[in-house]
Amino acid sequence: MIDLKSQTLQEVTDTLKAMGEPAFRGRQVFVWLHRGARSFDEMTNLSKALREKLKETCILTVPKVARKQVSRLDGTIKYLWELADGNCVESVLMQYHHGNTVCISSQVGCRMGCAFCASTIAGKERDLTPAEMLDQVLFTQLDSGLEISNIVLMGIGEPLDNMDTVLRFLELVNHPDGMNIGMRHISLSTCGLVPGIQRLADLGLQLTLSVSLHAPDSETRSKIMPVNRAYDVDRLFDACHAYFKKTGRRISFEYAMIDGVNDHDWQADLIVKKLRGMPGHVNLIPLNDVAESPFKPSRRIAAFQRRLEAQGVTATVRRSLGGDIDASCGQLRRKAMEEARKGEDSQ
Ligand code: SAH
Repeated sequence: MIDLKSQTLQEVTDTLKAMGEPAFRGRQVFVWLHRGARSFDEMTNLSKALREKLKETCILTVPKVARKQVSRLDGTIKYLWELADGNCVESVLMQYHHGNTVCISSQVGCRMGCAFCASTIAGKERDLTPAEMLDQVLFTQLDSGLEISNIVLMGIGEPLDNMDTVLRFLELVNHPDGMNIGMRHISLSTCGLVPGIQRLADLGLQLTLSVSLHAPDSETRSKIMPVNRAYDVDRLFDACHAYFKKTGRRISFEYAMIDGVNDHDWQADLIVKKLRGMPGHVNLIPLNDVAESPFKPSRRIAAFQRRLEAQGVTATVRRSLGGDIDASCGQLRRKAMEEARKGEDSQ
Protein backbone atom coordinates (compact mmCIF):
# COMPACT_ATOMS: atom_id res chain seq x y z
CA MET A 1 0.00 0.00 0.00
CA ILE A 2 1.21 3.50 -0.85
CA ASP A 3 1.34 6.10 1.92
CA LEU A 4 0.37 9.04 -0.28
CA LYS A 5 0.41 11.65 2.49
CA SER A 6 4.08 10.91 3.18
CA GLN A 7 4.88 11.71 -0.46
CA THR A 8 6.06 15.05 -1.84
CA LEU A 9 3.94 16.81 -4.47
CA GLN A 10 6.27 15.48 -7.17
CA GLU A 11 5.94 11.94 -5.88
CA VAL A 12 2.14 12.13 -5.61
CA THR A 13 2.08 13.41 -9.18
CA ASP A 14 4.28 10.53 -10.32
CA THR A 15 2.13 8.00 -8.44
CA LEU A 16 -0.98 9.29 -10.19
CA LYS A 17 0.75 9.44 -13.54
CA ALA A 18 1.63 5.78 -13.13
CA MET A 19 -2.12 5.18 -12.73
CA GLY A 20 -2.67 6.84 -16.08
CA GLU A 21 -3.80 10.20 -14.71
CA PRO A 22 -2.83 13.62 -16.08
CA ALA A 23 -0.17 15.65 -14.26
CA PHE A 24 -2.57 18.15 -12.66
CA ARG A 25 -4.24 15.34 -10.69
CA GLY A 26 -1.22 15.21 -8.40
CA ARG A 27 -1.83 18.70 -7.05
CA GLN A 28 -5.56 18.03 -6.61
CA VAL A 29 -4.88 14.98 -4.47
CA PHE A 30 -2.04 16.69 -2.57
CA VAL A 31 -4.36 19.57 -1.67
CA TRP A 32 -7.04 17.17 -0.38
CA LEU A 33 -4.52 15.26 1.72
CA HIS A 34 -3.12 18.44 3.26
CA ARG A 35 -6.56 19.76 4.02
CA GLY A 36 -7.12 16.70 6.21
CA ALA A 37 -9.46 14.65 4.01
CA ARG A 38 -10.62 11.65 6.02
CA SER A 39 -11.39 9.41 3.06
CA PHE A 40 -10.81 9.25 -0.67
CA ASP A 41 -14.59 9.61 -1.13
CA GLU A 42 -14.29 13.21 0.05
CA MET A 43 -12.13 14.01 -2.99
CA THR A 44 -15.12 14.98 -5.08
CA ASN A 45 -13.21 16.49 -7.99
CA LEU A 46 -11.76 13.04 -8.79
CA SER A 47 -13.66 10.47 -10.82
CA LYS A 48 -15.41 7.68 -8.95
CA ALA A 49 -13.15 5.16 -10.71
CA LEU A 50 -10.00 6.94 -9.55
CA ARG A 51 -11.26 7.17 -5.98
CA GLU A 52 -11.89 3.42 -6.00
CA LYS A 53 -8.41 2.77 -7.38
CA LEU A 54 -6.87 4.97 -4.65
CA LYS A 55 -8.81 3.10 -1.97
CA GLU A 56 -7.43 -0.19 -3.24
CA THR A 57 -3.81 0.90 -3.53
CA CYS A 58 -3.22 3.63 -0.95
CA ILE A 59 -3.59 4.13 2.77
CA LEU A 60 -4.98 7.33 4.19
CA THR A 61 -3.87 7.93 7.77
CA VAL A 62 -6.40 9.54 10.10
CA PRO A 63 -5.34 9.50 13.75
CA LYS A 64 -8.05 8.99 16.35
CA VAL A 65 -8.37 11.23 19.38
CA ALA A 66 -7.68 8.66 22.14
CA ARG A 67 -7.74 11.36 24.82
CA LYS A 68 -8.10 15.10 24.87
CA GLN A 69 -7.44 17.29 27.87
CA VAL A 70 -8.14 21.01 27.96
CA SER A 71 -6.43 23.10 30.62
CA ARG A 72 -8.80 25.22 32.64
CA LEU A 73 -5.89 27.50 33.47
CA ASP A 74 -4.80 28.64 30.02
CA GLY A 75 -6.67 26.74 27.31
CA THR A 76 -3.73 24.49 26.48
CA ILE A 77 -5.01 21.35 24.75
CA LYS A 78 -3.29 18.02 24.96
CA TYR A 79 -4.07 15.30 22.45
CA LEU A 80 -3.24 11.64 22.72
CA TRP A 81 -3.52 10.30 19.16
CA GLU A 82 -4.09 6.68 18.36
CA LEU A 83 -2.28 5.69 15.17
CA ALA A 84 -3.36 3.05 12.65
CA ASP A 85 -1.39 0.29 14.45
CA GLY A 86 -2.77 1.15 17.89
CA ASN A 87 0.34 3.00 19.08
CA CYS A 88 -0.20 6.40 20.67
CA VAL A 89 1.66 9.72 20.55
CA GLU A 90 1.01 13.13 22.07
CA SER A 91 0.71 16.66 20.74
CA VAL A 92 0.13 19.84 22.74
CA LEU A 93 -1.53 23.00 21.47
CA MET A 94 -0.45 26.17 23.29
CA GLN A 95 -2.06 29.55 22.78
CA TYR A 96 0.32 32.49 22.93
CA HIS A 97 -0.12 36.18 22.06
CA HIS A 98 1.89 35.67 18.88
CA GLY A 99 -0.22 32.72 17.70
CA ASN A 100 -0.99 29.07 18.28
CA THR A 101 1.89 26.66 18.65
CA VAL A 102 1.63 22.90 18.38
CA CYS A 103 4.27 20.69 19.94
CA ILE A 104 4.50 17.38 18.09
CA SER A 105 6.14 13.98 18.52
CA SER A 106 8.63 12.43 16.10
CA GLN A 107 8.79 8.84 17.39
CA VAL A 108 6.67 6.40 19.39
CA GLY A 109 8.76 6.47 22.57
CA CYS A 110 12.44 7.38 22.57
CA ARG A 111 15.75 5.55 22.92
CA MET A 112 17.89 8.43 24.17
CA GLY A 113 17.46 7.50 27.84
CA CYS A 114 17.55 10.95 29.51
CA ALA A 115 17.19 10.24 33.23
CA PHE A 116 14.57 12.93 33.94
CA CYS A 117 12.29 12.33 30.93
CA ALA A 118 9.04 10.35 30.87
CA SER A 119 9.13 9.73 27.09
CA THR A 120 12.08 7.39 27.21
CA ILE A 121 11.16 5.13 30.14
CA ALA A 122 9.83 2.27 27.99
CA GLY A 123 12.31 2.89 25.14
CA LYS A 124 11.48 3.41 21.48
CA GLU A 125 8.67 1.48 19.85
CA ARG A 126 9.10 2.79 16.30
CA ASP A 127 9.71 5.88 14.19
CA LEU A 128 6.77 7.96 12.99
CA THR A 129 6.16 8.43 9.27
CA PRO A 130 6.11 11.88 7.64
CA ALA A 131 2.30 11.57 7.34
CA GLU A 132 1.96 10.77 11.04
CA MET A 133 3.95 13.87 11.92
CA LEU A 134 1.93 16.02 9.54
CA ASP A 135 -1.33 14.56 10.85
CA GLN A 136 -0.57 15.86 14.33
CA VAL A 137 -0.46 19.43 13.02
CA LEU A 138 -3.36 18.98 10.64
CA PHE A 139 -5.78 17.26 12.99
CA THR A 140 -4.87 19.44 15.97
CA GLN A 141 -5.89 22.40 13.83
CA LEU A 142 -9.06 20.71 12.56
CA ASP A 143 -10.18 19.35 15.92
CA SER A 144 -9.49 22.53 17.89
CA GLY A 145 -10.65 24.96 15.22
CA LEU A 146 -7.57 27.05 16.06
CA GLU A 147 -5.22 27.97 13.24
CA ILE A 148 -1.70 26.74 13.86
CA SER A 149 1.02 29.28 13.15
CA ASN A 150 4.00 27.68 14.85
CA ILE A 151 5.36 24.18 15.27
CA VAL A 152 7.86 22.87 17.79
CA LEU A 153 9.38 19.41 17.44
CA MET A 154 9.65 18.91 21.18
CA GLY A 155 7.17 16.12 21.85
CA ILE A 156 7.97 12.45 22.27
CA GLY A 157 11.06 11.20 20.44
CA GLU A 158 14.38 12.50 19.19
CA PRO A 159 13.87 14.25 15.82
CA LEU A 160 17.47 13.79 14.70
CA ASP A 161 17.17 10.04 15.38
CA ASN A 162 14.45 9.99 12.69
CA MET A 163 15.99 12.64 10.54
CA ASP A 164 15.00 11.67 6.99
CA THR A 165 11.38 11.54 8.08
CA VAL A 166 11.66 14.87 9.87
CA LEU A 167 13.21 16.55 6.81
CA ARG A 168 10.43 15.24 4.63
CA PHE A 169 7.82 16.37 7.17
CA LEU A 170 9.35 19.86 7.10
CA GLU A 171 9.13 19.93 3.31
CA LEU A 172 5.48 18.83 3.43
CA VAL A 173 4.27 21.20 6.14
CA ASN A 174 6.14 24.08 4.52
CA HIS A 175 4.63 23.49 1.09
CA PRO A 176 2.51 26.36 -0.38
CA ASP A 177 -0.14 23.87 -1.53
CA GLY A 178 -0.17 22.31 1.92
CA MET A 179 -0.23 23.92 5.36
CA ASN A 180 2.33 26.48 4.21
CA ILE A 181 3.93 26.99 7.61
CA GLY A 182 7.19 28.93 7.22
CA MET A 183 10.50 27.48 8.39
CA ARG A 184 10.99 30.50 10.63
CA HIS A 185 7.89 29.39 12.52
CA ILE A 186 9.31 25.94 13.23
CA SER A 187 11.66 24.88 16.04
CA LEU A 188 13.45 21.57 16.28
CA SER A 189 14.81 20.33 19.59
CA THR A 190 17.59 17.76 19.89
CA CYS A 191 19.32 16.09 22.82
CA GLY A 192 22.58 16.66 20.92
CA LEU A 193 23.11 14.19 18.09
CA VAL A 194 26.13 15.92 16.58
CA PRO A 195 26.03 14.41 13.05
CA GLY A 196 22.40 15.52 12.74
CA ILE A 197 23.28 19.06 13.80
CA GLN A 198 26.05 19.11 11.18
CA ARG A 199 23.64 17.90 8.53
CA LEU A 200 21.13 20.59 9.49
CA ALA A 201 23.88 23.22 9.27
CA ASP A 202 24.75 22.06 5.75
CA LEU A 203 21.11 22.27 4.71
CA GLY A 204 20.90 25.85 6.00
CA LEU A 205 17.20 25.64 6.86
CA GLN A 206 15.69 28.74 8.42
CA LEU A 207 14.21 26.87 11.37
CA THR A 208 15.20 27.48 14.99
CA LEU A 209 17.47 24.87 16.51
CA SER A 210 17.02 24.09 20.19
CA VAL A 211 19.64 22.04 21.96
CA SER A 212 18.77 20.25 25.19
CA LEU A 213 21.89 21.10 27.14
CA HIS A 214 20.89 20.47 30.78
CA ALA A 215 24.53 20.53 31.94
CA PRO A 216 27.64 22.29 30.60
CA ASP A 217 30.12 19.82 32.13
CA SER A 218 30.64 16.34 30.83
CA GLU A 219 30.52 14.60 34.20
CA THR A 220 27.04 15.86 35.09
CA ARG A 221 25.71 15.62 31.55
CA SER A 222 26.79 12.00 31.14
CA LYS A 223 24.96 11.14 34.36
CA ILE A 224 21.63 12.53 33.19
CA MET A 225 21.94 12.20 29.40
CA PRO A 226 23.51 8.98 28.01
CA VAL A 227 23.87 10.69 24.60
CA ASN A 228 26.74 12.65 26.16
CA ARG A 229 28.82 9.48 26.28
CA ALA A 230 28.61 9.24 22.49
CA TYR A 231 28.76 12.97 21.72
CA ASP A 232 30.51 14.77 24.51
CA VAL A 233 29.38 18.28 25.48
CA ASP A 234 32.54 19.85 24.01
CA ARG A 235 31.90 18.22 20.64
CA LEU A 236 28.31 19.40 20.98
CA PHE A 237 29.41 23.01 21.56
CA ASP A 238 31.84 22.75 18.60
CA ALA A 239 28.92 21.62 16.41
CA CYS A 240 26.78 24.48 17.74
CA HIS A 241 29.45 27.09 17.04
CA ALA A 242 29.87 25.67 13.52
CA TYR A 243 26.09 25.70 13.04
CA PHE A 244 25.95 29.37 14.00
CA LYS A 245 28.86 30.25 11.70
CA LYS A 246 27.21 28.50 8.79
CA THR A 247 23.61 29.59 9.25
CA GLY A 248 23.89 32.82 11.24
CA ARG A 249 21.00 31.56 13.34
CA ARG A 250 20.94 31.85 17.09
CA ILE A 251 20.58 28.56 18.93
CA SER A 252 18.30 28.15 21.90
CA PHE A 253 19.63 25.99 24.76
CA GLU A 254 17.09 24.14 26.89
CA TYR A 255 18.08 23.74 30.51
CA ALA A 256 15.77 21.90 32.93
CA MET A 257 16.75 23.04 36.41
CA ILE A 258 17.37 20.04 38.69
CA ASP A 259 17.94 20.49 42.39
CA GLY A 260 21.59 20.01 43.35
CA VAL A 261 22.52 18.51 39.97
CA ASN A 262 22.89 21.29 37.40
CA ASP A 263 21.91 24.45 39.29
CA HIS A 264 25.28 25.49 40.77
CA ASP A 265 26.83 28.90 40.11
CA TRP A 266 29.93 27.33 38.57
CA GLN A 267 27.72 25.64 35.98
CA ALA A 268 26.19 28.99 35.00
CA ASP A 269 29.72 30.36 34.63
CA LEU A 270 30.73 27.38 32.50
CA ILE A 271 27.73 27.92 30.19
CA VAL A 272 28.85 31.53 29.72
CA LYS A 273 32.37 30.40 28.88
CA LYS A 274 31.30 27.75 26.38
CA LEU A 275 28.86 30.06 24.63
CA ARG A 276 31.48 32.74 24.03
CA GLY A 277 31.55 33.78 20.37
CA MET A 278 27.93 32.82 19.73
CA PRO A 279 24.72 34.67 20.65
CA GLY A 280 23.01 31.80 22.43
CA HIS A 281 19.79 31.98 24.35
CA VAL A 282 19.32 29.84 27.46
CA ASN A 283 15.80 28.73 28.25
CA LEU A 284 15.56 27.66 31.88
CA ILE A 285 12.81 25.09 32.40
CA PRO A 286 11.30 24.34 35.79
CA LEU A 287 11.74 20.55 36.01
CA ASN A 288 8.51 18.65 35.65
CA ASP A 289 8.17 16.07 38.35
CA VAL A 290 8.15 12.62 36.77
CA ALA A 291 6.92 10.01 39.23
CA GLU A 292 9.60 7.46 38.26
CA SER A 293 12.48 9.94 38.53
CA PRO A 294 14.59 10.71 41.62
CA PHE A 295 15.17 14.32 40.51
CA LYS A 296 13.53 17.29 42.15
CA PRO A 297 12.91 20.79 40.76
CA SER A 298 15.59 23.36 41.59
CA ARG A 299 14.84 26.37 43.77
CA ARG A 300 17.70 28.36 42.26
CA ILE A 301 16.18 29.27 38.90
CA ALA A 302 16.05 33.04 39.50
CA ALA A 303 19.60 33.16 40.87
CA PHE A 304 20.90 31.05 37.96
CA GLN A 305 19.14 33.31 35.49
CA ARG A 306 20.61 36.45 37.10
CA ARG A 307 24.08 34.95 37.00
CA LEU A 308 23.82 34.21 33.28
CA GLU A 309 22.31 37.60 32.48
CA ALA A 310 24.97 39.44 34.51
CA GLN A 311 27.58 37.90 32.23
CA GLY A 312 25.77 38.87 29.05
CA VAL A 313 23.95 35.62 28.23
CA THR A 314 20.24 35.98 27.49
CA ALA A 315 18.30 33.68 29.78
CA THR A 316 14.56 33.26 30.08
CA VAL A 317 12.45 31.08 32.33
CA ARG A 318 9.94 29.00 30.47
CA ARG A 319 6.41 29.86 31.38
CA SER A 320 4.66 26.66 32.27
CA LEU A 321 1.39 26.00 30.43
CA GLY A 322 -1.12 23.26 31.02
CA GLY A 323 0.11 22.55 34.56
CA ASP A 324 -3.18 20.81 35.34
CA ILE A 325 -3.17 18.37 32.40
CA ASP A 326 0.14 16.42 32.37
CA ALA A 327 1.05 18.56 29.39
CA SER A 328 4.69 17.67 29.08
CA CYS A 329 7.20 15.19 27.84
CA GLY A 330 5.37 11.94 27.32
CA GLN A 331 3.42 12.13 30.55
CA LEU A 332 0.00 11.50 29.04
CA ARG A 333 1.16 8.53 26.94
CA ARG A 334 2.93 7.18 30.02
CA LYS A 335 -0.23 7.52 32.09
CA ALA A 336 -2.35 5.80 29.44
CA MET A 337 0.19 2.94 29.25
CA GLU A 338 0.16 2.56 33.05
CA GLU A 339 -3.62 2.48 33.13
CA ALA A 340 -3.75 -0.09 30.32
CA ARG A 341 -1.23 -2.22 32.23
CA LYS A 342 -3.22 -1.98 35.47
CA GLY A 343 -6.37 -2.86 33.54
CA GLU A 344 -4.66 -6.03 32.23
CA ASP A 345 -3.36 -6.96 35.69
CA SER A 346 -6.79 -6.82 37.22
CA GLN A 347 -8.37 -9.05 34.60
N1 SAH B 1 14.41 14.65 22.06
C1 SAH B 1 14.38 16.07 21.90
C2 SAH B 1 13.00 16.70 21.94
C3 SAH B 1 11.99 16.22 22.95
S1 SAH B 1 12.09 16.68 24.66
C4 SAH B 1 15.27 16.73 22.90
O1 SAH B 1 15.82 16.04 23.75
O2 SAH B 1 15.48 17.92 22.81
C5 SAH B 1 11.66 18.36 24.83
C6 SAH B 1 12.41 19.02 25.97
O3 SAH B 1 11.85 18.66 27.27
C7 SAH B 1 13.87 18.63 26.04
O4 SAH B 1 14.65 19.76 26.28
C8 SAH B 1 13.88 17.69 27.22
O5 SAH B 1 15.16 17.54 27.75
C9 SAH B 1 12.90 18.35 28.15
N2 SAH B 1 12.42 17.51 29.25
C10 SAH B 1 12.26 16.18 29.29
N3 SAH B 1 11.80 15.79 30.49
C11 SAH B 1 11.67 16.88 31.24
C12 SAH B 1 11.23 17.13 32.57
N4 SAH B 1 10.86 16.14 33.39
N5 SAH B 1 11.20 18.42 33.00
C13 SAH B 1 11.55 19.43 32.17
N6 SAH B 1 11.98 19.27 30.92
C14 SAH B 1 12.05 18.01 30.45
